[in-house]
Amino acid sequence: MSFFSRFGMWLQRVMYGRYGSDALSFAILILYMILYILAQIFWWPILAWLSLLLLFWSFFRMFSKNIYARRRENEKFLAFWRMLKNFFTGKAFRSRDKEHKYYKCPKCKNTLRVPRRGKKIQITCPVCGNSFIKKA
Ligand SMILES: [Zn+2]
Repeated sequence: MSFFSRFGMWLQRVMYGRYGSDALSFAILILYMILYILAQIFWWPILAWLSLLLLFWSFFRMFSKNIYARRRENEKFLAFWRMLKNFFTGKAFRSRDKEHKYYKCPKCKNTLRVPRRGKKIQITCPVCGNSFIKKA
């Protein structure tokens, strides 16, 4: 048996019943690398230790057996990430988009895009079916 297939079997045995990697662990690892590099450049030993804590946290999550708790952490992180992405890309994109207007559904807070017409129109939310009248 080759080294790699033996290593693969060992890894499978170790990871059995454990959570494994996810987007949050990956993000923590990226953050660790950034902090580690910054610590090297500016020679901040405290930052190097802090980055090490991040590395341990990431490994702790991967080897954790509390799959439910880890999954919930990851979901929270993904929701936060979506919000961050919307904040940066959404706003920049909308200010360039002169042909549409953007509204938030008053009921479910979903963002709706309608063609700019310069008059009042009835907008129906495709998510919750709520309709409201706005100038578009
Ligand atoms: Zn809605």
